[in-house]
Amino acid sequence: MIQVIYDEKEDEIIPVITCDVCNNRIEDVLNAVAVNQNVFDMGETPTKILHAHKGRCHDSAEAKIGKYAGWEELSAHLYYLCKNLGLTSQWFEARDRPQEKNDR
Ligand SMILES: [Zn+2]
Repeated sequence: MIQVIYDEKEDEIIPVITCDVCNNRIEDVLNAVAVNQNVFDMGETPTKILHAHKGRCHDSAEAKIGKYAGWEELSAHLYYLCKNLGLTSQWFEARDRPQEKNDR
């Protein structure tokens, strides 16, 4: 689940992904998965996604979805999500580039 929280360390409000099984924040993208019902009709029926930590949370998420559960690495899931939203590497580079001062 995507949520917004106050991060004390950074002293700011930030969006995070929490595990749909244990409700704790997913902080390591490489230790998490996106679980969904397998798509048998070429995507005509949208399916719900569960984000989960690897291990017990992943197993519980698959059990929740049922026998047709499928999954992918959370990193791959987020990559395709960004791509489908039009967020390219160039967009990220431009976003991270320091703002040029126009008031000289
Ligand atoms: Zn979890």
